Amino acid sequence: MAFEGLTERLQKTMEKLRRKPKVTDADLRETMREIRLALLEADVNFKVVKDFVKTVQAKATGAEVLKGLNPAQQIVKIVNEELTNMMGETAAPLNKAPHIPTVIMMVGLQGAGKTTTAGKLALKLKEEDQARPMFIAADVYRPAAITQLQQVADSIDVPVFEMGTDVDPVEIVRQGMTQAAIQKNDYVIIDTAGRLQIDEALMDELVKIKELTHPNEILLVVDAMTGQNAVNTAEGFDDQLDITGVVLTKLDGDTRGGAAMSIRAVTGKPIKFVGEGEKMENLDVFYPDRMASRILGMGDMLTLIEKAQKNFDEEQAAETMRKMQENSFDYNDFLDQIDQMTKMGPLEDLLKMMPGMANNPALKNLSIDPKQFLHIKAIIQSMTEAERTNPDLMNPSRKKRLAAGSGRPIVEVNRMVKQFDQMRKMMNQITNGNFAGMQNMMGG
Ligand code: GDP
Repeated sequence: MAFEGLTERLQKTMEKLRRKPKVTDADLRETMREIRLALLEADVNFKVVKDFVKTVQAKATGAEVLKGLNPAQQIVKIVNEELTNMMGETAAPLNKAPHIPTVIMMVGLQGAGKTTTAGKLALKLKEEDQARPMFIAADVYRPAAITQLQQVADSIDVPVFEMGTDVDPVEIVRQGMTQAAIQKNDYVIIDTAGRLQIDEALMDELVKIKELTHPNEILLVVDAMTGQNAVNTAEGFDDQLDITGVVLTKLDGDTRGGAAMSIRAVTGKPIKFVGEGEKMENLDVFYPDRMASRILGMGDMLTLIEKAQKNFDEEQAAETMRKMQENSFDYNDFLDQIDQMTKMGPLEDLLKMMPGMANNPALKNLSIDPKQFLHIKAIIQSMTEAERTNPDLMNPSRKKRLAAGSGRPIVEVNRMVKQFDQMRKMMNQITNGNFAGMQNMMGG
C-alpha cells in the first residue's frame, strides 16, 4: 500500500501527542523532529521537509494553539493543512482551449506510463465530457509503441493518427493536427517518445512539437515508485518545456510518498491526476486535501473537526463553562447540548471518523438510535421550569409524572436522571481542578 510506512510513523507521533494532557514546547519540538524524520524516510525532498517543518512549527508555536482546547488536535490540523498546501491546496483542472481542439501533449520517460495514461485520459474525457478525442502516435523510435497505443485506443474506441516509424515525429504531428481539424475532434492527445533518461535530442524534438501545436497542456507522466528520481525528472522536463502539470502513476504500488509530496513544492507545477492501477478506469483527479488525509491515515478526522467547529457555538460554550464553574448546569443546558450533538449527524458516523475507529469491528454493525436523543428530550420537556433549573428538586413522584408526561417507561426516566446527576458531579470535579472524575469516566 502506498505511504504505509509514513502513515504509520506519523500516526504514532500524533498518538503520542494526543495522549498528553498538556503540550509543552519540548513536546512540540519532539513532535517536529519525528515528523521531519518520517518525511525524510518517505523520500520527501530534504528542502521541502525543512520548509514544511518550519511552517508547521511556526503555526503550532502560536500561543493560542498550545494554550487552547485540545492542542494535539490543533497540531494534527495544522500538519494536515500544511501537507495539503505543500501538494497544491486544491485540485488543478485540465486546461481547455477556447476553440477546438484542446491539445494535450503527453511527455515522460520510458515506462513511466505515458501511453497507458493517454488512454485513461481519453476515456475520462469521453465519459465525463462527452468528448471526441484523437490520438497522434509520435513515438517512432520504439516500433512497439505505435502498436501499444493502437491497442489502448481500440479498447476505448478512440481513433489514432499514425504514419508508421519512418516519418519525422514533428511532421506526423503536423499532419495529425490537420486530420483532427477535418474530423472536428475536440481533443488531440499526442503520445510522444520517451527515453530512459532525459537527453538533448528528445528535448529538441519535444520543443519543436510544442512550438508547432501550442499545446494547452503539457502533461508530464512520472512513476511514483521512483521517488526523488521522479522529482528530478519533473525538474528536468519543466526546465526545457515549461510543463503545465504532472500525472503521477503507480500510486497503487507501495510507494513511500516522496514524489507525491515533493513535486509541487519543487517545480511549482501541480499534480493533476494520479494513476492507481493498470486498467483504463484507474485515473483519478488529484485532490491535495484528500491525499493529505490519506497520508496521515486519519480517515475523515478533518471532516470531523470541521463539523465540530461548524456547530461549535462559542458564546454557548462560554456560557456552559460559566455554569459548570458555578455548579449551575441544569436541564435546559443539557437540552442545548443534545441539540448541538444531534446537529453533527448520526453518532455512529462520527465515531467511525475518529482515527483507528473506522475499521473497529465493534462499530461494524453499531447503530445508535437517534430516537434515544428524542426520548431524553421528551422527558426533559415534560419537566416544569422549576425542575429544569433546579435539578435537585427531582424525586420519585416527579419522576413518575415525567414518565407519564413523556410516554417513556419509568426505568428510562430514572436512568436519564442518574446520568445527568453523574455528569453534573463530574463537571463539578473538573472545574474544581480534580481530574480524577474525568479519568474514571474515560476508563483511564
Ligand atoms: P510509457 O513507456 O511511458 O508509455 O509507459 P506504458 O504506458 O507502456 O506503461 C508502462 C507499464 O506501467 C505498463 O505495464 C502499464 O500497465 C503500467 N502502468 C501504467 N500506469 C500504471 C498505474 O497507475 N498503476 C500500475 N500498477 N501500473 C501502471
